[in-house]
Amino acid sequence: MPSQSVSTPRADILVIDDTPENLNLLSAMLTEQGYKVRSVTKGSTGLRGATAAPPDLILLDINMPEMNGYEVCEHLKANERTREIPVIFISALGDVLDKVKGFAVGGVDYVTKPFQVEEVLARIENHLTIRRLQKQLQTQNEQLQQEIRSRQLAEERFAKAFRSSPNPIAIATLEEGRFIDVNPSFLRFCGYSLEEVIGHTATELDLPSASQTLAYTIQKFQEMGSLHNQEVEFCTKTGELKTILLSIEFIDIANVQCTLLIANDITERKRLENEFISLVSHELRTPLTSIMGALDILGAGKLGTMSEQAQKVLSIATSNTERLIRLVNDILDLERMKSSKIVMHKVKCNAVDIMVQATEAMQAMADNSQVQLVVNPLNVELWADSDRLLQTLTNLISNAIKFSETSDTVWIGAEVIEDKGNSLSASSCASNSLLITVRDQGRGIPEDKLQTIFERFQQVDASDSRKKGGTGLGLAICRNIVQQHNGRIWAESTLGEGSTFYVLLPLASS
Ligand code: ADP
Repeated sequence: MPSQSVSTPRADILVIDDTPENLNLLSAMLTEQGYKVRSVTKGSTGLRGATAAPPDLILLDINMPEMNGYEVCEHLKANERTREIPVIFISALGDVLDKVKGFAVGGVDYVTKPFQVEEVLARIENHLTIRRLQKQLQTQNEQLQQEIRSRQLAEERFAKAFRSSPNPIAIATLEEGRFIDVNPSFLRFCGYSLEEVIGHTATELDLPSASQTLAYTIQKFQEMGSLHNQEVEFCTKTGELKTILLSIEFIDIANVQCTLLIANDITERKRLENEFISLVSHELRTPLTSIMGALDILGAGKLGTMSEQAQKVLSIATSNTERLIRLVNDILDLERMKSSKIVMHKVKCNAVDIMVQATEAMQAMADNSQVQLVVNPLNVELWADSDRLLQTLTNLISNAIKFSETSDTVWIGAEVIEDKGNSLSASSCASNSLLITVRDQGRGIPEDKLQTIFERFQQVDASDSRKKGGTGLGLAICRNIVQQHNGRIWAESTLGEGSTFYVLLPLASS
């Protein structure tokens, strides 16, 4: 029953037997089964043949002159090239077969003459299969070893890059934000030891600054799936405030969803930038004041009457100079607030007074733009710097009017919020907060700008400052004032329908 085609022999078998009849018989039987057969009558010839072209299996007679089967087998097992070839011993029924010796010298099996064809074939096929599987295992093993080596190398490279990166890097669990690994730059940067950091969250270590931008950054990252170079303020162990550009990516570590946080410390760059801006602003203030004075003198007609056209030009010059003075003052104001040169003088004050005063202050502007102001004040006590809070509210109302259309309405309202999940207080004891809202029916703010407008010089439209006379600093100043009151400010908006600005402030405890 030949099952294999002649062109692809099932296996290469070497038969070593000094009896020609046996050789012929085995050879014919195996050839018929589709094996490639090589037959030799001497042990030494068999050894040479096996070394020159190692067969898949050897059938080896035990009783042979010159070199018997055991010796041939020992030589085969001693040679690197032939060591792995399975050897099946052949013995005559009358021979005294030392099975133990056969196995001891490296044989895998034995068959006895006269041959039972099926038995011989079954034993041969068994050992060929075992050998094939062994080879497969060896190859797989080598592949695995290779893979392990490459992985170890990659891991080593990554670990080195992680440890020696000049950028602070941290890995934290996604769910709870607990640090599971940080590099030495991270520890140098935040001033904590490895033991103090691992297993803790950024909030537990007080890393986020009061500006809460880190919390917002994390929230934004979860919405977007990754984050690049987000400016965030960070508090070190010694309380030093640092500015970083933070990038976050999702990574999977041993089936645990984690975040990879890479920081770039730009504190010094930021300080130089601020220093430069305030220096330029200081230098601009004096000449600007003198220009304004000169324009006033011209406008008052003290140097002669002006033509109508000259008055128009003068009025353009005056309004632009006023804008520049506003800009310079805002920059200096913000800079002084940030560097804590301006201290908030907090006293007990009533929300009604502040809300009404702010509305009254903006009434003229609203009338000019034909916008209606509706105020619903609330009689609650706050612990606040009333001038600064007034500045915040007037700024929000002024923006609401600026970005509204004729005959739109701006609502100024307030309500008391019980602090639970939305707590402003760091302690666990609940205290109430006041939520002031300024709602308009204006053009609205795109979703992706709702946070950035609170940054310096950030405007939805680059032409806003020219067209609407703003500086792009108002909301940055508002945020700073609100934060210095331990409060929170944010905006919600629907394009084309309007915006609502929220100011959440802790109430004065009675
Ligand atoms: P500005 O002096 O330009 O008003 P702000 O910091 O107060 O500076 O505001 C920043 C930008 O936010 C504005 O230029 C405008 O693009 C947008 N903005 C603020 N308030 C509103 C609002 N109520 N409706 C629409 N856009 C607004």
